[in-house]
Amino acid sequence: MTGLTREDIIAKACELGFEDVGFTTAEPFDTHLDFLKDRQDAYGWAEAAGLKLMDGTDPKTVMPGAQTIIVLMEVYFKKRFPRQMEGHFGRCYLDDDRVTKDGLSRRIKAFRSFLRDSGIDSKVPFNLPHRMAAARAGMGTFGKNCLFYSNKVARQGSWVLPIAVVVDRAFDPDSPSIEMGCPDWCRNACITACPTRALNGNGTIDPGKCISYLTYFGQDLTPRELREPMGIYVYGCDRCQNVCPRNAPWLAADLPVNERVAAKEKDFRLSSLLNMDESHFTARVWPHMFYMGPDRLWQWKMNVARAMGNTRDTRYVKDLIRCFKENSDDRVRSMCAWALGRIGDRQSRTALEGFLPDSIGVLEDEIRYALGLL
Ligand code: SF4
Ligand code: SF4
Repeated sequence: MTGLTREDIIAKACELGFEDVGFTTAEPFDTHLDFLKDRQDAYGWAEAAGLKLMDGTDPKTVMPGAQTIIVLMEVYFKKRFPRQMEGHFGRCYLDDDRVTKDGLSRRIKAFRSFLRDSGIDSKVPFNLPHRMAAARAGMGTFGKNCLFYSNKVARQGSWVLPIAVVVDRAFDPDSPSIEMGCPDWCRNACITACPTRALNGNGTIDPGKCISYLTYFGQDLTPRELREPMGIYVYGCDRCQNVCPRNAPWLAADLPVNERVAAKEKDFRLSSLLNMDESHFTARVWPHMFYMGPDRLWQWKMNVARAMGNTRDTRYVKDLIRCFKENSDDRVRSMCAWALGRIGDRQSRTALEGFLPDSIGVLEDEIRYALGLL
């Protein structure tokens, strides 16, 4: 038997930079399983994509001898990100090291080695309901935007990533805090602010309507009615967190700059992304935001073109014209046409008029729409 106590584990996790630690049992998350079963209309895609969310509701599917879940709380927005990156990317993706494994992954590995040295086996299943595990470990509450709010760190905000570590040893569990923590006086700011009406108001979401999902899992050319609401987000969306009064204290904090992220800012400028080639994408972009691989480079470019159009910034006109000319994918070209129409200056209109005679089908329709001819 290991001599490790809860206190030893908490001390080690804090030494490794985790900001809070909680314990819960390895009992199955039955209510979450029922929820997923009831909402297959909204979550069926995840099972089809092999994410196995339903299997993840029972820790014993990954570790038959599971007894405890230790939840490590990471604050992913501990330092300030470059402002233009925050406008185009969800903050939780800006310092994501799941491919590079040079940040958080190392600390999780070190924590697991520490457990192993004391004879404790551990697993970190990606499909376990991490937020629910954190709530069961009493570490915070939910918001109506479906996010998890810490009760201790990031000034009790939602900029946190709970990491559930399943272990084969019993520890005393903490008292659960599975509840909605929104104040009565908040007039559902997140629900009102969600541009695609993805939030249902009762603490549930239609993932298929969420901009985050649409940016990386959306299929085909983004429907016209979603292009304006999706705004200038290219990958992810933070709008329902930005407007939340529970997050205001942390957003007002004077944070130091995240130098790691600032160093890659140049590669994530819209102009650089729109006309990147596959080798640049594979070397400089994909390792940091990997949900779309090289086979979906068209989707990156389509998202960037849409974001450029929504900035209404004429400095992007040249990039969009170049992209239209150099790409053969009609989803990309259609979005470039839409973006040029949305910017709508003289140079954009002239370019669109020039593209029209050689375009057919959907592309021709998009150009006509951009020119206001439909
Ligand atoms: S992340 Fe954006 S699109 Fe998704 S629910 Fe929040 S505000 Fe709506
Ligand atoms: S905006 Fe209001 S309702 Fe939405 S999560 Fe924040 S406090 Fe809750």
